[in-house]
Amino acid sequence: AAGAAVSAAGAVAAAPIITATSIKVNVSLAEAAGRAAATGADGVGLLRIEHMILGLNKTPGWYISQGKEEEFITELYNGIKVVLDAFPGKPVWVRTLDAPTDEFRNMLGGEDEPIEHNPMLGWRGIRRDLQSPEQFRMQIEAFKRLWGAGYDNLGLMFPLVSHPDQFIQAKALIEEWGVDVTEVALGVMIEIPSSAILIEDFCKAGISFASFGTNDLIQYTLAIDRNNELVSSMYLPKHPAVLKLIKDAIAVCREYGVECSICGQAGSDPNMVEWLIENGISSVSANIDAVPKIRETAARTEMRMILDSVRRTNA
Ligand code: PEP
Ligand code: MG
Repeated sequence: AAGAAVSAAGAVAAAPIITATSIKVNVSLAEAAGRAAATGADGVGLLRIEHMILGLNKTPGWYISQGKEEEFITELYNGIKVVLDAFPGKPVWVRTLDAPTDEFRNMLGGEDEPIEHNPMLGWRGIRRDLQSPEQFRMQIEAFKRLWGAGYDNLGLMFPLVSHPDQFIQAKALIEEWGVDVTEVALGVMIEIPSSAILIEDFCKAGISFASFGTNDLIQYTLAIDRNNELVSSMYLPKHPAVLKLIKDAIAVCREYGVECSICGQAGSDPNMVEWLIENGISSVSANIDAVPKIRETAARTEMRMILDSVRRTNA
């Protein structure tokens, strides 16, 4: 894994820093793809599609009710394609839709969205997709066409899974819809404590990779609303319970040879990344602006670990 510092003019500004840990980047907007690729990241560890879809101002259900599925599929296909084109030959993990229902409220079709007391614990992520397969299918159709067009660097990541059966069900649907699931990378977000606890069953169920969504994992482990300032002092990425869940899950992934990554905000914190690398994480996906610093942190941490091990051997 190498990251060359390349200027906008294309001149190489510094020798690439080589790290054993893949350093990837999070992308939320197709327009940011160029800037994300210019960091020299080894791939995209999280491509959020919420902005691509919410920006259309129509709910997925609206497209179905109007018989305009093709329009939705084309928008999604084109948005993701821009990012795939910016990362040729590098993995791009696209997360299936994960928007809470309240964010769809004020758009066309919003009146048909369920009214929920607590949308963050409600009908979002893989739950929504499994309960409304026609909405899931529109997304999968866009991915299927991208795979068909030769973008074999595209991987899919399912959000908010809490049980391996959800992964198995999602995979079965994708297969039913004509995708050769043995040929594509299908992974899960580990962002609910239950999925961290059951990581071995996810590995046995055949996930290609797992990625810690620490923004939600912290929230759900500590029962702290990530958007509530009143309790933000208790929103602790390094709470021992959070670290234990992550550490144990990384160890299991390593045992099964499953790539294990992080795409939550904690992956942009050098201190946390040092700890993650010491504990064996295989890749880290950071915000665009944080990639150079995280690359440097990874190189320094890996070097220190090697020197420590040499010193121990020679002692
Ligand atoms: C997370 O939960 O850490 C994550 C990356 O997803 P989001 O922030 O989009 O919920
Ligand atoms: Mg999340």
